[in-house]
Amino acid sequence: MARVVVIGAGLGGLPTAYELRHLLPQGSHQVTVVSNTPKFTFTPSLPWVALGLKRMADIQVELPQRLERKGIEFIQGTVTDLQPPKRTLRVNGEPLAYDYLVVATGAELALDAIPGLGPEQGFTQSVCTPHHALLAQKAWAEFLRQPGPLVVGAVPGASCFGPAYEFVLLAEGQLRKRGLREQVPITFITPEPYAGHFGIGGMAGAEELVKRLLAQRQIRVLANTAIARVEEGEIVLAEGERIPFAYAMLLPPFRGAQFLREVPGLTDARGFLPVTSTYQHPDFDSFYAVGVVTQLAPSETTPLPVGVPKTGQMTEAMGMAVAHNIALRLGALRGEPVSPTLEAICFADFGDTGILFLADPVLPVLGRRRRALAVQGPWVSWLKSAFEHYFLAKMRWGWAVPWFERLSLQGVGLSLIEPISKPLGDLVSP
Ligand SMILES: Cc1cc2nc3c(=O)[nH]c(=O)nc-3n(C[C@H](O)[C@H](O)[C@H](O)COP(=O)(O)OP(=O)(O)OC[C@H]3O[C@@H](n4cnc5c(N)ncnc54)[C@H](O)[C@@H]3O)c2cc1C
Repeated sequence: MARVVVIGAGLGGLPTAYELRHLLPQGSHQVTVVSNTPKFTFTPSLPWVALGLKRMADIQVELPQRLERKGIEFIQGTVTDLQPPKRTLRVNGEPLAYDYLVVATGAELALDAIPGLGPEQGFTQSVCTPHHALLAQKAWAEFLRQPGPLVVGAVPGASCFGPAYEFVLLAEGQLRKRGLREQVPITFITPEPYAGHFGIGGMAGAEELVKRLLAQRQIRVLANTAIARVEEGEIVLAEGERIPFAYAMLLPPFRGAQFLREVPGLTDARGFLPVTSTYQHPDFDSFYAVGVVTQLAPSETTPLPVGVPKTGQMTEAMGMAVAHNIALRLGALRGEPVSPTLEAICFADFGDTGILFLADPVLPVLGRRRRALAVQGPWVSWLKSAFEHYFLAKMRWGWAVPWFERLSLQGVGLSLIEPISKPLGDLVSP
């Protein structure tokens, strides 16, 4: 009997564990999830929580009993002391051995990237973790009582820009609704070369749509702009300009978890895990990685450093590929190893409208993609809400990607995994 340990129960870890349990016959192999929190959180909805538009409890799923009922062992604790050559780690100081490991620990926030980044040790808010979203919500309620300038954006090295656009446009809508917009000048600051780049660039129509929306809402945009530091009530740009704020939400750069960075040679300089096409670590073949913690190099250089976003769908695809590849190795499946397709559909919700982005694949190959699309409409907001409910239901029921979802994806020409040898086919300009 093999023991497969999955670290992290977020958008990557939990579906991976469900798929492993689905593929590996009960009683034959053990699936263990180790998570430092007993709850699954639907992270894409955190901007809504921060703005008081959703309750945290509505986007979370309690895990321990649910997983035990599914035949998945759940251990609550923080992983430390990983030793890949010995296939061991520690949880809350106790040793745990594994035959196969899936690391899905998401992002650690590099809040030390510039001085003054908050929320705990600085002056800005973040929406990247449940705890931060709750702090941001409290600060937002105070801001509504005493409004002033609002600054939203990201600092150099950030890779996940969607939530900043969502936050600024949702916040603008809320201020308008409450009759406070006149009192709140809004500035959006980003290291992206242009608004709507999203760390990947070349998304047909995205630049025009995003710029038009920001202009229509009279939001001042400072793109290709580096924030040097934050002081109390003021953002200081690298070029010296000072921008006052009463409320600021800035996304930090991400890095890999500390326990990974502590293993010599395991990660790149920022703690991300290199992976092969099967999503195994190149040096340890029992070691797999899924989600934000994987290394994905940008396909283009930008004047200021920006990372490549790893979206929910890409993360889920990595999880499905990893579960498939482990099941193959354990003899529970026949066939070929697979890779995630890394196609990304993303719904960005701006309240009364939204933009659907499709990038296939996310990173252009030789400057080209099979497909790239950006379309705007209020239906995108509804779809995002519907998707949130659907995803949470899946996590409650213990489904990874059920057959009808796979079928629907196929219906629009998308799949989560593909044989490793599949050629890219006809590439079109993005
Ligand atoms: C604010 C925000 C909004 C987003 N919006 C969208 C969107 O609209 N659409 C989209 O496609 N993508 C969106 N994303 C990206 C999406 O959330 C990620 O792709 C996804 O969460 C990545 O999954 P993951 O499993 O890698 O990390 P996570 O979902 O963050 O899960 C990692 C888990 O590992 C746990 N963990 C970490 N370290 C340890 C340890 N040492 N021991 C035990 N457990 C540990 C963490 O607590 C966490 O539960 C958004 C991201 C953010 C931050």
